[in-house]
Amino acid sequence: MTKYLVDLFKRTPGDVIDKVVYLTEGRLYPDFVDIDIGIAEKIALKALAMACGLPPERVEHELRHKGDIGTAAESLLKEKKQGTLSRKELSVEEIYSSLDRIARTKGPGSVDMKVRALSGLLSEAKPVEAKYILRTITGKMRLGIADMTILDALAQAFADKSARQIIERAYNLTSDLGDIARTLCTEGLEAVRKYHARVGRLVRMMLAQRMESAGEILEKIRRPICEWKYDGERIQIHKLGDEISLFSRRLENITAQYPDIADLARRSLKVKEAIIEGECVAVDADTGAMLPFQDLMHRRRKYGIEEAVREFPAHIYLFDALLIEGEDITQKPLIERRERLRNAIEETAGFRLVNYLISDNVKEIETFFESAIENGCEGLILKSGDSTYQAGARSWLWIKLKRSYQSKMIEPIDVVIVGAFMGRGRRSGSYGALLVSVYDSERDVFPTITKVGSGFTDEDLKNMPEVLAPYRLEHSHARVESGLEADIWFTPAVVIEIIGDELTLSPVHMCAYNRIRENAGIAVRFPRFTHRWRMDKAPEDATTVDEIIEMYRARLRKIEL
Ligand code: AMP
Repeated sequence: MTKYLVDLFKRTPGDVIDKVVYLTEGRLYPDFVDIDIGIAEKIALKALAMACGLPPERVEHELRHKGDIGTAAESLLKEKKQGTLSRKELSVEEIYSSLDRIARTKGPGSVDMKVRALSGLLSEAKPVEAKYILRTITGKMRLGIADMTILDALAQAFADKSARQIIERAYNLTSDLGDIARTLCTEGLEAVRKYHARVGRLVRMMLAQRMESAGEILEKIRRPICEWKYDGERIQIHKLGDEISLFSRRLENITAQYPDIADLARRSLKVKEAIIEGECVAVDADTGAMLPFQDLMHRRRKYGIEEAVREFPAHIYLFDALLIEGEDITQKPLIERRERLRNAIEETAGFRLVNYLISDNVKEIETFFESAIENGCEGLILKSGDSTYQAGARSWLWIKLKRSYQSKMIEPIDVVIVGAFMGRGRRSGSYGALLVSVYDSERDVFPTITKVGSGFTDEDLKNMPEVLAPYRLEHSHARVESGLEADIWFTPAVVIEIIGDELTLSPVHMCAYNRIRENAGIAVRFPRFTHRWRMDKAPEDATTVDEIIEMYRARLRKIEL
């Protein structure tokens, strides 16, 4: 895959390479820009019918017969265009600007306008071009190219493998692969080396490792800053003048869902230009007490935001600053960044710094941990005061300490759904169990860890096929590693939390395969769904293989004791 991309990038002119990169990933802009290439299949069908001069029923019939809108379009257009002279080739710019116009069309009458614009584009296209245009905009292309593959290919195309680190750093600071590709191609590697955090471009968030006891963590971090680990949603706030944007950890722009937080930021951030981070938590409207994460998910909706804000108010607890008054401070130590943060804000009940303690006393930290749990937090995150902000990294400079459960039971973990098995009996017609994976961050793949069938309510079972429908695949995804043959496969996209009785070695699951014992991976025994849909998490935010290995080893140590 990388080799194909290298060839493609080398042959692409600098003025369109950003567009080529976005289109390769099936989009028009980087993640954090809220303009979606996607078009409903119904609209695509109408446009195709119009372009072919056929009744929609005929096109629908062809689609049913071929099973894929791209192939259907190719054969219908071939029929129609037979004998006509082939036209000039469509350019990347032409296709991109048409798709961009279609994506930006909103409001009354927009469906008709989209149909007409798309039909115009399809009439200009050769049959094979129409095939790929339609697959791209209906989300059926699914090349499965990960950001990391594009980074590799860019390094090889425009520099050499050793440049990979510089390019990745730029990516972690700006999250915009198209922009980096254009800079590399037109200005070279030196210009990419100068990248820094900028308002409006998402900085990929720094993440934490996990350990089982405060004592263990103190061996890694001296006199850590111990912060409450709030049970909410991570938000990166960008401010320029009165303009506020909020971004999620999945790189989405979520400003519209949190108008109250945006308002607080506008009023309480005293500086003109800033990027800061915090955890947003749902609170009880009457008592101000923190509520579990699930309550915050009511805010994840498109319509009725005003009522949701009233019904489910939220506060934000701030813990980091990455840029203040135009200055990128990601390379300053955490202690200093927090000081800059403190000076940049006016604290109020809804907008304030996290609770924290600086200590290297195990007892003291444990008591602080208990108070965090009592107040509805998940535990603590212990951070090195000297550490820089390591954009995009899960590092040992931040280590989380979560509540561990009774003796045998492991802590809950976040897994991504990659497959399903059809149900029987009461569950026939729906899914009987899901095949789930963790994330191997070193190899950028999703090895399976268990098959989970319990903990689902009837309601869950009924909704599951619909929730997962957009991610359905005919075959297993290129980045999924599985020893089991699922009935249905999915693109890794939806993250759920599960808990199990213990971690065991398993010959069929690929998590940590050959890492503990030859020909065996690690699996979760007796897993159940905890009812937490982690819609806020990207598949790459699932629990990692390294964390599972650490949990497995910790368990062994306890048994030995
Ligand atoms: P996890 O989701 O278990 O990987 O834990 C990391 C997440 O904890 C972050 O992405 C934040 O959303 C959240 N979090 C809560 N409190 C803090 C804090 N004080 N510092 C950093 N992250 C926090």
